[in-house]
Amino acid sequence: MKLYSKEKPMAAIESMKRTGRFPHAILLTGERGVGKRTFADYIAMTLMCEHGNACGECRNCKRILSGTHPDVIKPEKTGKKMLYNRETIRQVCCDAFVAPNDCDVKFYIFTDCESIEENSQNLMLKLIEEPPDTVCFIFTAVNANVFLPTIRSRVVTIGIPEASEEDCKAALADMGKYSQEQIDEAVMRFHGNIGCCEEYLSGGELSENVAFCREIIAAIADRNEYGLLKALYGVGDDRPRVRRVLELADKVIRDACMIRLGNIPLTGCDPEGAKRLSGTISRRRAEAIHDAINKTCSRCRGTANVPLEAASFASTVME
Ligand SMILES: [Zn+2]
Repeated sequence: MKLYSKEKPMAAIESMKRTGRFPHAILLTGERGVGKRTFADYIAMTLMCEHGNACGECRNCKRILSGTHPDVIKPEKTGKKMLYNRETIRQVCCDAFVAPNDCDVKFYIFTDCESIEENSQNLMLKLIEEPPDTVCFIFTAVNANVFLPTIRSRVVTIGIPEASEEDCKAALADMGKYSQEQIDEAVMRFHGNIGCCEEYLSGGELSENVAFCREIIAAIADRNEYGLLKALYGVGDDRPRVRRVLELADKVIRDACMIRLGNIPLTGCDPEGAKRLSGTISRRRAEAIHDAINKTCSRCRGTANVPLEAASFASTVME
């Protein structure tokens, strides 16, 4: 199986396998889109591959990649908030003591663990402390701190890095469905983040969010309050989405400051906007906007009224 710019975490897994000290619980951290889920499959493949090298071709590797391997279990999230609930965790705790079906080991992969509640984590703790020999848990999360310290101290944490822009372009080209022009545009906006580039090119929410973000940045650069409100109202009143758009804008604001300071690589999705903004925005104003974004995002985690938040955000930004 081909991975891009993952030499460091691959070497870590390889060395744990070689020395026979494979952990019972691994936490993969890194930004959304960097390939944590793919890497979780890769870890299962390194232990289960019939050729011993995560070939991607043998029966075990193929079943892992298609999500049908009976010993690679991905528990389901449930409910409106899509959480791993207590019942699911309880089932895993029982099931973990049942021997694997066809391999010497079985994996439980929990993705985006931002959604494991504290009481479910406590339920799991015992299992992670004294796991059956045949079980390995893999968790993925943006930040390790979503877990209780008691869990964190018992898992091996491996950071999954973003690919280089060059590798990201190669990965998108290898998928065989995008033109060079599409690839260049996606990498200009999402740099080495292969998952975000793919999502952007699929034309779904992320590409619309980028368009909203660009409108917001243009309005800030032009000091156009009406334009800013129009862009914000355009996003709609889905609070998590408003947050996602503002987080994109925040990175562009950061880029604008970086451009003023010199040639640090940009991380945001609107490099042209950042360049324009860097000519008009003072550092103090950038900081004030960054604070306003943080405040609005944190209110949008609660039960904020989105139109009111948008209006208050726009007036703070234009001050
Ligand atoms: Zn294989």
